[in-house]
Amino acid sequence: MAVTPTPGALGPTSTPAQAGGANAGAPANAVTPCCWCDTFVKKVSEHGSIWVLSTQHTNFPIKFTMTVDLAGNEVVIEVKFKWNTVYAAVTAAQKAAVQTGMTSIAASAWSGKYGVKVVDPACTPPTKTLAIRFVASFVTSGEDILVDLLPGPGTSSVGLGLMTLHATDTVDAGYVFIHEFGHTFGLDDEYFYPGNTTGSVAYKRANGTTTTITLPQNDNVMSTYGDMNLKPRFFYFVEIEAQKLLRSGAGLGRAAITCEIV
Ligand SMILES: [Zn+2]
Repeated sequence: MAVTPTPGALGPTSTPAQAGGANAGAPANAVTPCCWCDTFVKKVSEHGSIWVLSTQHTNFPIKFTMTVDLAGNEVVIEVKFKWNTVYAAVTAAQKAAVQTGMTSIAASAWSGKYGVKVVDPACTPPTKTLAIRFVASFVTSGEDILVDLLPGPGTSSVGLGLMTLHATDTVDAGYVFIHEFGHTFGLDDEYFYPGNTTGSVAYKRANGTTTTITLPQNDNVMSTYGDMNLKPRFFYFVEIEAQKLLRSGAGLGRAAITCEIV
C-alpha cells in the first residue's frame, strides 16, 4: 500500500524506492514508524565469503539486486546475466533454450520454497513473513555476471564474474541451470572436488551464528547431480542482506529489526 505524503505535514512519510537502485524510506527519527508499507531496493556487491565459506575453494565477489517489499510480502533476488561469448556452433534455438533454462526453470525452482520472517518491535503486528522470489534476467548492460555458451558436452561452472554453460545443459530437466544459478548468489558446492577427502562449508546467519556442514552431502542441489532439493541454509544470505538493509539508514533504520529464514 502506498502512502501519499501530505505536503507540510510533520508525520511519517513513505517514499517508494527510486528507479536505478537508490533507496529512500522513513527517516530513522520519524515520530511514528511506517510499518509494513515500504519497498527498499539495494544493489548488493559483496565478497561471497561474507555468507558462505568453503574449505574447498576461494570465494569470489557476488552481485545481485535485492528488493524488500514489505507491503507486497516478498523479497526478490535478481541476478542479471549478459551473454559474453556464444560459440558459433551453438544454434539460435539452443541459445534460446539455455536462456529459458535460466530465466524460467532455474528462477522458478529457487522461488517460493522458504520465506523471511521479519520482526520489527516498533510495528503492530511486529512480525511479517515475506516470500522469497528469484529472478534471472538477461540484459545488454548493467549485468551482474557474464555468460559464455559452448556447444558441449562439458562441465558448466561459475567463477569470477563469469558463468560457463553448455547447449547440452538442457538435457537434465534443468538441474545444471538450477545448480549453477545457486553459485551466482554465492553458494558453494557440497560434493568433494577430486582428491579431497575432508572439508566443510560454513553458512553464516543474520543472528551472528554459523551453521557448518561436513562434506560431502548427498541430498540436495548443491551436492548431488539430479537432486533438486533446496536446503534452508542456501537462503541464509537473504536473511543477512535483508536484515542489514532494513536496519540501515537506507531501510527503516531500526537496529532491533531481525530477519530469519523460515
Ligand atoms: Zn557447482
